[in-house]
Amino acid sequence: MSAQRAARAFHAVHGAPCAGVWAAPGRVNLIGEYTDVNDGFVMPFALPHLTWVAARARTDGRLRLHSAAAGPAAELDVGHLAPGTVPGWAAYPAGVAWALRAAGHGITGADLHVESEVPAGAGLSSSAALEVATALALDGLFGLGLARPELARLAQRAENAFVGVPCGAMDQIASACCTDGHVLRLDARDLSRRQIPFDPQAHGLTLLVVDTRVAHEVGDGGYARRRAGCEAAARALGVRALRDVPYVQLSAALEELAGIGGAGDLPALVRHVVTENHRVEEVTACLEAGDVRAAGPLLSAGHASLRDDFAVSCPELDLAVTAALGAGALGARMTGAGFGGSAVVLAERTGPAGAAAVAEAVTRAFAGAGHRGPRVFAAAPGAGARRVA
Ligand code: ADP
Ligand code: MG
Repeated sequence: MSAQRAARAFHAVHGAPCAGVWAAPGRVNLIGEYTDVNDGFVMPFALPHLTWVAARARTDGRLRLHSAAAGPAAELDVGHLAPGTVPGWAAYPAGVAWALRAAGHGITGADLHVESEVPAGAGLSSSAALEVATALALDGLFGLGLARPELARLAQRAENAFVGVPCGAMDQIASACCTDGHVLRLDARDLSRRQIPFDPQAHGLTLLVVDTRVAHEVGDGGYARRRAGCEAAARALGVRALRDVPYVQLSAALEELAGIGGAGDLPALVRHVVTENHRVEEVTACLEAGDVRAAGPLLSAGHASLRDDFAVSCPELDLAVTAALGAGALGARMTGAGFGGSAVVLAERTGPAGAAAVAEAVTRAFAGAGHRGPRVFAAAPGAGARRVA
């Protein structure tokens, strides 16, 4: 897949050449899970996998959206876009046009064609890749000159308010702002960013992504319930968000919560968020000291915390992690919201416990448990969104 292919397909679908092609990557989060919704720290990097948007401006208010992965084109009127009115996949790019217009930018219509190699629904943020590529395309077509963080903010607004998914800021910022060979350390409170060099290959390592290809229905309102629990715990502890509970005060905070009747699972939620923020600090220190191997056990500790305290893992993710570690991986954890989706594994590049052996062990374990085969691939940190043609 390539920019040229997207341009050719655009021509075939829309009957005229496109004005340009813009691309945005999917992402994985190295560490820092459920910390962004607690004003804490996350550490995503951009995948080499891209979503391409070939596009041409229109002046008649029409928005014609086509994707190689979806059915017939959606035809909309940019002047009449409203949250909840566009069904299916077209809500993502239409939501971006809506968010740009709501922010006062003169989008007068466009023809779009989308191609993607980011697996959809695998926790690798194909939705953010689509939104950010669309935002960058519209920015380019209409000469808006918006900075990447602002495009990311509008893309997030599209997903929250137009599509109706209450995601945090991480996915869109990662897709828009990551740089080649780095993880992006993001402070979810003030959105300040730091690029931290991360080149596993230079250290004789490989980072594997294991897409379990399962997405479990969460019967107990999993995401919203945990978010509400974190907010209730922050209120009970008298802090703005759990990010404000220092790691050294964790025991005191847990004691305080234990003293409040009916706190239920709040202590476990607090323990995860506070230790996870601390793990982000520790992984940052490892990477900045050039000791990438030392990050491995921190990833595994993060998984245990998500499994036991935050309770958002599932049998397939647990199996991916235990099989990878059993085969000699340096560290492994679920990544993303959980209940399916993907895991990340840090392994030696070659040798008896190398990436190939680890990938094979995971695949064998899935077969042994009767699960559908996972998709396992190596991922080096890539560049963020950009114009490609
Ligand atoms: P994730 O972001 O983890 O991949 P989401 O459920 O947030 O999962 O987003 C997946 C949805 O995004 C798809 O169901 C589809 O509606 C939309 N989408 C993503 N990529 C494409 C694409 N290339 N073409 C059309 N729709 C896409
Ligand atoms: Mg998504």
